[in-house]
Amino acid sequence: MLLEVKDVRKSHSAPDGGAPVDILKGVDLALGAGETVSILGPSGSGKSTLLSLLGALDSPDAGSIRVEGIEVSELKGKALSDYRNRTVGFIFQMHHLLPQCSVLENVLTPALAGGSKVVRSAEPRARDLLDSLGLAHRLKHRPSELSGGERQRVAVARAMVLNPRLLLADEPTGALDRGSASNLSEVLLEMNRRYQVAMVVVTHASELAARMQRSFELRDGKLVQIS
Ligand code: ADP
Ligand code: MG
Repeated sequence: MLLEVKDVRKSHSAPDGGAPVDILKGVDLALGAGETVSILGPSGSGKSTLLSLLGALDSPDAGSIRVEGIEVSELKGKALSDYRNRTVGFIFQMHHLLPQCSVLENVLTPALAGGSKVVRSAEPRARDLLDSLGLAHRLKHRPSELSGGERQRVAVARAMVLNPRLLLADEPTGALDRGSASNLSEVLLEMNRRYQVAMVVVTHASELAARMQRSFELRDGKLVQIS
């Protein structure tokens, strides 16, 4: 198994300082290498909370998240930053590209932590990814010079540049028009086919959800398989 989530629980403290609210109440999920799933659920149901736990941006109150057999909450120091940076790739609704950097520089940002050697060795892959995403002629452009769909494709290239095993996407088409959203769905599937990267995609877009192998809904703090 690539990813094994068992009985994961998470509560958030209420904004008024009141009692914590249980958001995730025993989430289970198992994902093999290269498998794809979508997660649906109403706003506030805890989808982003779950992705942040899978990406080790936050830790669960209870339960286990294992990736390639390793308990994610036990990672520390370099192993933890490598996990966040290399094992998983993140795509958000907003692209979060650095406005002052070029497209190519943005795609290479995950490599910066590894120093100049890692940046140099990542560059051919960055160019390759941008080429396959139809952005070869945009390498030196700034994000502000791109369309919304192009920016999101740059974010995909950035998420994929260090060859992650697991891609986590939080409403990746949420800010795009229909045409760009459909194109981005195609791009994500292409990444899966080409690099066998597994994907957990949170989305309201039924077209994108339907293209994942399995679909789940986050319902009352638990994942329920719906297709
Ligand atoms: P979704 O992505 O499904 O819309 P979220 O995971 O963002 O849901 O949020 C689930 C609930 O947890 C919401 O009620 C939200 O307000 C609350 N929440 C999310 N993050 C925090 C946080 N860091 N602190 C306190 N409450 C939070
Ligand atoms: Mg969310």
